[in-house]
Amino acid sequence: MKPLLDRALVWFRRDLRADDQAALYQALRSAKQVYCAFVLDRDILDALPRADRRVEFILGALKVLDEDLRERGGALIVRHGTAADEIPRLAAELGVQAVFANHDDEPQALARDTRVAELLKAFSAELRTFKDHVVFERREVMTASGGPYGVFTPYKNAWLKKVDAFYLSSYPVERHAAALADTPLAQGVPTLQDIGFEPAGLIAHVGQGSRGAQALLDDFLDRIDSYDKKRDFPALKGPSYLSVHLRFGTVSIRRLARLAHDRMQGGDHGAEVWLSELIWRDFYHQVMHHHPHAMTASFRPEYDHIQWDTGPEADAAFAAWCEGRTGFPLVDAAMRQLNQTGYMHNRLRMVAASFLCKDLGLHWQRGEAYFAEKLLDFDLAANNGGWQWASSSGCDAQPYFRIFNPTSQSEKFDAHGAFIRRYCPELADLDDRAIHAPWQAAPLQMQGRGYPRPLVDHAAARERTLARYAVVKTRALPEPQAGPTTGRIRNRSA
Ligand code: FAD
Repeated sequence: MKPLLDRALVWFRRDLRADDQAALYQALRSAKQVYCAFVLDRDILDALPRADRRVEFILGALKVLDEDLRERGGALIVRHGTAADEIPRLAAELGVQAVFANHDDEPQALARDTRVAELLKAFSAELRTFKDHVVFERREVMTASGGPYGVFTPYKNAWLKKVDAFYLSSYPVERHAAALADTPLAQGVPTLQDIGFEPAGLIAHVGQGSRGAQALLDDFLDRIDSYDKKRDFPALKGPSYLSVHLRFGTVSIRRLARLAHDRMQGGDHGAEVWLSELIWRDFYHQVMHHHPHAMTASFRPEYDHIQWDTGPEADAAFAAWCEGRTGFPLVDAAMRQLNQTGYMHNRLRMVAASFLCKDLGLHWQRGEAYFAEKLLDFDLAANNGGWQWASSSGCDAQPYFRIFNPTSQSEKFDAHGAFIRRYCPELADLDDRAIHAPWQAAPLQMQGRGYPRPLVDHAAARERTLARYAVVKTRALPEPQAGPTTGRIRNRSA
């Protein structure tokens, strides 16, 4: 073990909790005094609309984190500025020899960390980083020939083969908490107004920070055994709704994966299917690591030759999609759920994404950007993976000729229209048949409701899409090779 440091700083980012936190644990084991900080990063915040639910969520999570640290003798320093300014400055003010943080493999975050590490050298301090956000990262799960997996099922099988109690065990932060240090620099958490934001409202359903995560988890564990049966039906309380907490690390992925794995071994099929979803999350993170080009272009380059619709008509169709006015009730209900709550059910993300690129003929990146702006749980790797799956341009995507029919998806997954009625009240009194295709209802019945006619005829749109995608057959190239890998894998020491 390295010699004990006098002082260290833990830089929180997407890991806003005080339990089972890798960087916090490693700092506490390595230093006599450990300070904690979070930077409300202007490089990220300045580009956001002034009312943004995520900023509200983060401030709530920071309050809980600060309280939890104070209970253990520490405190959270919160700075509003750029990370490249604030972290080296804090390191100098506190006189720390090392800054501890958890990996963030988004390309911009990696560039930020490289810059911060460089700047810290001027103060004789180093940046030490650890795996925390996923169970397996970077090069930890590779094929027998040493390449990255591009298909989910074999990746999942290899993941399940490799996982054991070591990878799922928690970091016992509390055992070393005596090293936590308070400082007059920890002045509490600023308000939204202090940092130039306004309330965006409606995030109460996810709760505050790690306490909110615990409440959602308690609720979900009572029904995890029926996850496999309910998860595809948006009107039912099927999924966990924990995505925002996984995104900001207000719950530990190891803890969730351990709970699911233990139940799976006890024969719980619901838990087994849920664990698969957590593995999808790891899968997309390793895709981002090995193929960073896919964050800004098609994973399969031949899909970049598709000619998407552009111009005023395309812009109007895009606006209608964003606002939930396409005339396809399930798509509209999905988009209104997103706009009103910051959440969209997984089945509906697939339907809405497919509709944008395969019914409206619009570039998937327009939809990806809209989801990125609106989703409380927006995560670059998962969002990009989901959009490239729906547009067929991704590594393990659905084939381009598989085109969701928005009406039959509606009949299958919201048979009685319960979800549609919740978000499209103007359709609430339609019968169970007309609710999926109101254009088939008698014109008189639809009068005065203000509900739009369908933007496209699905059958005709399907033909246009098949023709549009034909270009990928002539442009097909070999599988993209993995890009350069960065960083080392650091496993936990005992
Ligand atoms: P649960 O069903 O309870 O699943 C548990 C957890 O597993 C989720 O919280 C999430 O962390 C993970 N997970 C589930 N499905 C997936 C998946 N397909 N890919 C990766 N991880 C998954 N998920 C995000 O977290 N952020 C996004 O920005 C995001 N954008 C998406 C965009 C599209 C077009 C699609 C099709 C999917 C997207 N997903 C995204 C994946 C998935 O829809 C959400 O994770 C899920 O709906 C979140 O709800 P939940 O927490 O109740 O999920």
